[in-house]
Amino acid sequence: MPPHRLLVLLCFVSAAWAQPVETADTVLYNGKIVTLWTERPQVQAVAIRGGRFLAAGGDAEIRRLAGPATRQIDLRGRVVVPGLIDSHVHPIGAALSEQEGEIPVVGSIADLQQYIRKLARATPPDKLIFVPKIYGTRMKERRYPTRQELDAAGGPDRLVVADNGYAAVLSTAALKKAGIGRDTPPPSNGKIIRDASGEPTGLILGAPQLLSRFRSDRPPTHQDRLWALRTMQQRYHQAGLTSIIDRGQGPEGLRAYQELWRKGELTIRANITVTTPGAGPLEQVREQIRRLPVATGFGDDRLRIGALKITLDGGILIGTAYLREPYGEHTEVYGYQDPDYRGVLASPRENVFEIARLANQLGWQMTAHTTGGGSTDLLLEAYEAADREQSIGDRRFTLTHANFPNPGAIERARRLGVVLDMQPAWLHLDGPALAKVLGPARMRDFHPYRSLFDAGLIVAGGSDHMIKLDSRRAINPFHPFFGMWMAITRQLVDGSIANPEQRISREQALRMWTLNAAYLSFDEKRKGSIEPGKLADLVVLTKDFLTCPEAEIRDLEAQATMVDGQFVYTREPM
Ligand SMILES: [Zn+2]
Repeated sequence: MPPHRLLVLLCFVSAAWAQPVETADTVLYNGKIVTLWTERPQVQAVAIRGGRFLAAGGDAEIRRLAGPATRQIDLRGRVVVPGLIDSHVHPIGAALSEQEGEIPVVGSIADLQQYIRKLARATPPDKLIFVPKIYGTRMKERRYPTRQELDAAGGPDRLVVADNGYAAVLSTAALKKAGIGRDTPPPSNGKIIRDASGEPTGLILGAPQLLSRFRSDRPPTHQDRLWALRTMQQRYHQAGLTSIIDRGQGPEGLRAYQELWRKGELTIRANITVTTPGAGPLEQVREQIRRLPVATGFGDDRLRIGALKITLDGGILIGTAYLREPYGEHTEVYGYQDPDYRGVLASPRENVFEIARLANQLGWQMTAHTTGGGSTDLLLEAYEAADREQSIGDRRFTLTHANFPNPGAIERARRLGVVLDMQPAWLHLDGPALAKVLGPARMRDFHPYRSLFDAGLIVAGGSDHMIKLDSRRAINPFHPFFGMWMAITRQLVDGSIANPEQRISREQALRMWTLNAAYLSFDEKRKGSIEPGKLADLVVLTKDFLTCPEAEIRDLEAQATMVDGQFVYTREPM
């Protein structure tokens, strides 16, 4: 044997001696591990090697894979589930919203006034008091405040704005400062609400150009964004999340993600949705998409480019979602009366068709914000047109929000292989207010999870987390077990159950935050279940998700969260 061959053989033998090929780095045993792996749905133990699951099975067979250097963790009977994935978050904006202190949870106009009074005492009289995330639907009174109510709390000359990004109420002084009065012409992209005498009430719907002077705060810096991501990913891990789909970033956000990725500090797996304008001249809209340098799928298991997203309509909380028919007579909660109003289409129809066509041609997975049934139907029509030109059957084009998939929309989505990114927690907070506006017939199509599952559609669970750091007090709450509890129970904030026939099982709810969300980002072969070869992401829970009383599901917590076989969060040392 030539000497170099011998050397190779010796190296091989000594390497094999030091580290048998099948030895685990980590073994977790004596647990109840819910794998979502069809071959072995529930096991006691799991072995991890090199950031991937090596094996899952009974204690004895798995512990045989441990060597002297293997870390062995006794789960002491605890329940483990696959690492959880939120299919819709906005972590950077959410963390920045509380960079300078906690935002109050405002549940009534009296709460709001009390908060304004506190700030008025603490700040110079010429300083703007800006209260974010004020929705009529989330007030006890089920309406927006009036400018008189803001004046009463802030003082007659105080600039006060109660805002939610899509609608705002301005104090009398703020209206004056913005130059909005009796004679201001109605904007084409929104409404100035007026009282019987023609005076503005203070409520402005849409029309961002009238409000930008109050909203454009200090723009965040790169350092702010890094802080925001570091802060938020830790909160996400604490809630059991190991992956997120960030549902809207541009170049600045991507740079922040990339910096953490490069430094090895990105502990959460992030799939980044790229936003592009849907409104504007067609040629410009097209050019903006053509100029994007990469498309869906670029990246690695930690940071990857996901879908391309446009916004089709407004929001159901503010009465600008584009419905299939007019809102009707019961729109007090939104602060207007207009029997013919269907909501706002934020991207013109021909643009939507062209963007879907182009996304298909250029290799993008496409999604769009569609909150009303009318915009969902329009998006499906655009997907159908794109599909006629070149099949979208394996492209996982997505409906984001899709609050009202009626039987027609469900059938069209099924035919096209379209998937859904939905947020069950909305049911809880907004169900009662929406039921008043829309009535029971339309509410039958609101978040119909059972029908979606029965039709074989892939529905991913998420939160649309965009404001505040706390997992349960955030808007929207991002705690995955709160979301799962909603999909399982459909229990609303007032205690009633919305369309109980649409409840789904615990396993289906868990799928929404694991395998189904992984499917949305083309990752179902790499994550979403605990099975050999997949990325070693898992969560150890404080209670048994499968057998605890239903009412306790919402309070489940992560005991420990693992990404790539490493703990990224532990409640107490494991
Ligand atoms: Zn969102």
